[in-house]
Amino acid sequence: MAVCAECRTAPAAIEDLDAQPPRPWCLTCATALVRAGDPVVRYRALDDSDAYRHVLAGGSTQALPFR
Ligand SMILES: [Zn+2]
Repeated sequence: MAVCAECRTAPAAIEDLDAQPPRPWCLTCATALVRAGDPVVRYRALDDSDAYRHVLAGGSTQALPFR
């Protein structure tokens, strides 16, 4: 199992396909990117869970300004 390239401790949950070579991210670090407004949008899921997809959906909803 690939290890996250950022924290180097947690198992990678997704792979950033815009990086070359593809960069592995754990769910915690990937979530931090979503919260920072710089989410990984082109990715390949490395586990069977939809956790990151849900984070991405929730994060983009939260990023919408209330009007
Ligand atoms: Zn990490």
